[in-house]
Amino acid sequence: MKRVKLRDIGEFGLIQRIRTWMSASRKDLIRGIGDDVAVMEMGDKALLATTDILIEGIHFHRSWIDPFSLGKKAILVNVSDIAAMGGTPKYFLISLGLPKGLPVSYVSQLYHGLKEGAKSFRADLVGGDTSLSPKIILNIALLGEGKKQNLLFRNGAKVGNDLWVSGTLGDSALGLKMLRKNRARGTSKALIERHLSPTPRLHLGQVLANHHLATAMIDVSDGLLIDTSHLLEESGVGVLLFEDTIPLSKEYRKFVRLYSRNPYRLALTGGEDYELLFTAPRENRDRISSLSRSLKLSLACIGEILPKKRRLLVARGGGKIYSPSSLGFDHFK
Ligand code: ADP
Ligand code: MG
Repeated sequence: MKRVKLRDIGEFGLIQRIRTWMSASRKDLIRGIGDDVAVMEMGDKALLATTDILIEGIHFHRSWIDPFSLGKKAILVNVSDIAAMGGTPKYFLISLGLPKGLPVSYVSQLYHGLKEGAKSFRADLVGGDTSLSPKIILNIALLGEGKKQNLLFRNGAKVGNDLWVSGTLGDSALGLKMLRKNRARGTSKALIERHLSPTPRLHLGQVLANHHLATAMIDVSDGLLIDTSHLLEESGVGVLLFEDTIPLSKEYRKFVRLYSRNPYRLALTGGEDYELLFTAPRENRDRISSLSRSLKLSLACIGEILPKKRRLLVARGGGKIYSPSSLGFDHFK
């Protein structure tokens, strides 16, 4: 009999299996595996915990990103997961795998970047672990807190809700393409910067949560289609996305044709934008639009939540509706 391999089930399939292997028993656990962060009851507050790993050769190459930016990015991507709950980051631990020949100055630059990233969110480093490794590995565990009744999970989307996204999509993926190999086709500093130095939408997440404006939320780290599918899966609903409402930056529009025939492909499937994707009742449209103006941050309504049987559908500008054959990148596929 053929043994099932990771490539057969993918990253999401593996996580679903881990969930069944490790059923939770504690009563004070509010959200375990399946959300952007784990949520535990701590008196009248909630403790938040999230972790993300960056591996040299998989998530980054030393020739693309300097150690300062790497350290900064490592903390910011974790902050983005806390933003996706509407919480506040507080403490973090970092585990490092490092090759022997690495200059000490590389590590000190990395910590400078970490410090810079953490400073803007007032998070403190409180520990970690260090080991020899053939490649650089960075793993951050970020702890935070939130108000129990305000936090937003992936599982609250309701049929008839609007689907919204902050900022613009695809910039980071296009910036990465520029870094990778295709510089000759034209580069944009702004797009590369979006890849190297993401901006987690912490304040937006907190306002949406504290004012009860949204019903479910996730950050867009793996790509719009994949992260939308996680939100749908957890909420037990479907969606119709309107391709021509997906927010694209000026720089993206200027360069995307040089890298991709379909101008929406990277915005739909490219990862690492770290924008917030959330659902909200229609009656909140005006409040969300006025929030967008007051924060000076674009918030675009890009779809409508449907019953589960419709799954994930995309409407092209011309009106043709399709079901995407591939949602985007999977580590094991
Ligand atoms: P995100 O993209 O928001 O960081 P992931 O897709 O990495 O989220 O993870 C989805 C969920 O699965 C989270 O609840 C995360 O904690 C959990 N998870 C991921 N990998 C593992 C693992 N190896 N063991 C247990 N839980 C995991
Ligand atoms: Mg996330």
